[in-house]
Amino acid sequence: MDAPTTDHELLAALQVAREKNPELAQTLDLHAEVIGARSKVEANPPDLKADKQEVANLVDERAPLIERWQLEWDPDAFAALATQICDIGARHRSELAPSFDEVRSLLTGDSRKSLDIVSAYLKEGKVGLPDLADETREVLSFVLIHSLHPFFRAYASVLTPLIEDQKWYQRLCPICGDEPDFAYLEEKVGGLRVLCSRCDTLWTFKRGECTFCANANNETFAYYLSDDNVYRLYVCDNCQRYLKVMDGRETSLKPVLSLQRIITIGMDLSARQEGYQ
Ligand SMILES: [Zn+2]
Ligand SMILES: [Zn+2]
Repeated sequence: MDAPTTDHELLAALQVAREKNPELAQTLDLHAEVIGARSKVEANPPDLKADKQEVANLVDERAPLIERWQLEWDPDAFAALATQICDIGARHRSELAPSFDEVRSLLTGDSRKSLDIVSAYLKEGKVGLPDLADETREVLSFVLIHSLHPFFRAYASVLTPLIEDQKWYQRLCPICGDEPDFAYLEEKVGGLRVLCSRCDTLWTFKRGECTFCANANNETFAYYLSDDNVYRLYVCDNCQRYLKVMDGRETSLKPVLSLQRIITIGMDLSARQEGYQ
């Protein structure tokens, strides 16, 4: 599988993108500060004692590896990073400051409560806490993704080299079991590579099928093309989900996918306006 972009490469790409897309300054500046903060956390690759055969067996059983080897994270480094991200978020998005404040106290106040939230998030792939306002839940999800990112990357760096990508072909990430939030059509054969929303692992999936519900009916699973043909917005009327896709056959640049998911925020807005999630 491909080596993921490091945070330092992503920061350099963000800077170039900001010069080219001044209209995205608010979003890009927020992300640059958050990614700058998380890039300073040093997470050591854990000693999982995973061997290739055991990984191959789990891949055969279609089991994401996180079901076998737990993610390890340093609670103090996590809490410090979550605090920083909440401060950055509240500063850049003042209308969301109350949500960032609430999330800061959820993740850094009572350590047992924080542990419960993170464990539930790792298990379910999403934030529980039904009493939270939708806005705060989205902020919590944003803060969790970024505060756990250094630990996820260290964890994935141990397991990814052991996985045979062509044996997986599932809709969920082989490492952490989460869903993709971006995809790329390869320049040569047009194979579909999907990017994990949580741990940035890249894996191969079937084309012509919804990555969320496996719907392959072309009357209810379709895509919209961008004016320059470089981007596709896949939408599914069976599960009402969408996926942003970049077509590598339509661009000469080798894209940084973790940057692309940020600069295509306009596609998220149009998809949500149409009622997709
Ligand atoms: Zn993942
Ligand atoms: Zn679907």
